Amino acid sequence: MHKHKAEGVIPQYLLKKLANEGNEKAKESIVRTKEILKKRMDKPIKRERDVTISSAQPVRDHNPDRHIYDCEHTESRRKKLARSEGDPATNDDDVNRAYDFSGICLDYFKNVLNRNSIDNLGMDLIFNVNYGENFLNAFWDPNRQEMVFGDGDGKTFLSFTRSLDVIAHEKAHGITEYTNNLEYAQQSGALNEHFSDVIGSAVKQHAKRESADSADWLIGNEIVGPEFGGIALRSLKEPGTAFTNDPQPNHMSKYKDLPVNEDGDYGGVHINSGIPNKAFFLVSMEIGTDNAAILWYNAWNNREYLHRHAQFKDAFEAILKTAQTLSSQGMMPYNTEEAVKRAFSEVGIYSLVGV
Ligand SMILES: [Zn+2]
Repeated sequence: MHKHKAEGVIPQYLLKKLANEGNEKAKESIVRTKEILKKRMDKPIKRERDVTISSAQPVRDHNPDRHIYDCEHTESRRKKLARSEGDPATNDDDVNRAYDFSGICLDYFKNVLNRNSIDNLGMDLIFNVNYGENFLNAFWDPNRQEMVFGDGDGKTFLSFTRSLDVIAHEKAHGITEYTNNLEYAQQSGALNEHFSDVIGSAVKQHAKRESADSADWLIGNEIVGPEFGGIALRSLKEPGTAFTNDPQPNHMSKYKDLPVNEDGDYGGVHINSGIPNKAFFLVSMEIGTDNAAILWYNAWNNREYLHRHAQFKDAFEAILKTAQTLSSQGMMPYNTEEAVKRAFSEVGIYSLVGV
């Protein structure tokens, strides 16, 4: 049995930084996030059937239903069922956004990635909104297989249901769990975070009908408040520029070797993810974001290369192999393989292969 680590969309190291600057809500949210996520997985989750190129597989029959629960500003989950699949809108913005945005995610998974919900078996989606009092976080709970969203304090963070990319990011953690289950530490952990940012950006751009060159490439820009000190949580286009002292590197030469603990962001999982994030942005600029997302998603299903302990160079090899396979099937633009090599060499990952 392995130890299962998970974090909220706001990493503990960042909440700690805010707490050290005197933010009381951040202090409370650190404790709550930890309590909720400290439980370990006591039984392995049900796995989808092995698929190498999943887009060749038919989408399965069962249509996932959405169930949005209102925690009514308490810490009890699944407190009041506020809106289920097919129900009309309610008068709570958080309930409606969770419903609408998760619908957009499910449509993207199905229509673009050919995946049926998080588990690829049509799993229903459970959301808990208005969790706690001004709770400063949102997360995918791997133990209970459901999502939880706080309201924020209106100063550092606004309601966590406001960002489509944050909702897609959290769901993508679920997908990773069902595909390669990347270990949440150091490079494999940074790849885990990276994939969630990839899906977050791709879903948002698709929904807003943006192209790679017109998109802002920001994660969480709708949830940061006036006192946050930045414009978003991360930038895939310019890692390290989202907020004051944003620690994300954009090249292997600036890779941060951090301790595998909370203060070190488990070896920099939300930090070093900037490097592959930049590579994804570069590939998207050449072949389009949806194509790049399809490529990444299929690579994530290639467990020969992208196994639980995969490193950045393994991800590169998986993506390159997938680019070759999909291109030979006429499913990717002719320049995909070159675009992948160029991007990973620009961020300093490609040169590492074979060294
Ligand atoms: Zn994450």
